[in-house]
Amino acid sequence: MKVTRLRALMWALLSTLLVACGGNQEASSVAKTAQQPQQVIKWKMVTTWPKNFPGLGTGANYMAKAITEMSGGRLEVKVYGANELVGALEVFDAVSRGTAEIGHGASYYWKGKSVAAQFFTAVPFGMNAQEMAGWLYYGGGMELWEEVYEPFGLVPLAAGNTGTQMGGWFNKEINSIEDLKGLKMRIPGLGGEVFSRAGGVSVLVPGGEIFPSMQTGALDATEWVGPYNDLAFGLHKVAKYYYYPGWQEPGPILEAMVNKQAFDALPADLQAIVREAAKATHMDMLANYTAENNRALRTLVNEHGVQLRKFPDEVISKLREISAQVLEEEAAKDPITQKVYESFKAFNSQVVEWHRISEKAYLEAREED
Ligand code: CA
Repeated sequence: MKVTRLRALMWALLSTLLVACGGNQEASSVAKTAQQPQQVIKWKMVTTWPKNFPGLGTGANYMAKAITEMSGGRLEVKVYGANELVGALEVFDAVSRGTAEIGHGASYYWKGKSVAAQFFTAVPFGMNAQEMAGWLYYGGGMELWEEVYEPFGLVPLAAGNTGTQMGGWFNKEINSIEDLKGLKMRIPGLGGEVFSRAGGVSVLVPGGEIFPSMQTGALDATEWVGPYNDLAFGLHKVAKYYYYPGWQEPGPILEAMVNKQAFDALPADLQAIVREAAKATHMDMLANYTAENNRALRTLVNEHGVQLRKFPDEVISKLREISAQVLEEEAAKDPITQKVYESFKAFNSQVVEWHRISEKAYLEAREED
């Protein structure tokens, strides 16, 4: 206390002197900024991804670097890959209890905590990346997500999107819905519920464990992300057929979750930096995937002989039918999930109408010769 009072007195004296010497208040505050010791806040970012994993892990790195740089080093964020500090699927609890201040992952991993959380990553046959961003930022989605995470002491932020994913890797052809029966497939979230209802067995396995699980036969099939990421994991070495489209994840959002106490303790400018860094990461990741997926797909097909297959219309239409039932049933599980689902559904139906005559019409027009 004594030191603080002495320092305040010195500043007052210095200001007076500056004014007396023909300086002004502005000069005095410049002097203050230049000389006051900088307080550095250090945050740990735990992630559900292997460290530096292309797109996802590097997306987390991007956000940490953006926060550190934009804050001029006042808020330093250090990234930990899955299992470095906590396991991939322990990220939610770790940030919730404050072991780490921030986490990067996907909200559908936490459906055991909240059924509603699944809707903020991906909804089968739901919205794509562009539409999800519209719902979250301008359609009330973010506010609902905040409401869902609030009881856990977490602040959610949208911090990435992979764009439309691939349907997954199989070792046999899928010619009818019967072919899914009994298949043990890594497929998380609502897509997993649909897959189970279609006769398969959905298993939640973090990214880093997919390859060994396919090798040992613990899994018969898997979806992960898309060519960019699936090539990085070498999934073409453990499965023959690569199916599209990714009906289960049409535009999945990646999340950054912040411990609410840690967030509230930040000054307003650092809070703004964290929020804007998440938005920048969101945009950057989608651009990264758009650029890399195409390149990786060519490598998979041309260099590794991967067999590309489209799900038959009959399979897709059955999965779409099951999805509609699953969404209704999941939503009915608790009031907040119902509220989230209603908001999602309303935005979805409106944006579909607009995109039918804009994005979709354009993509079709581009294909015509
Ligand atoms: Ca996926």
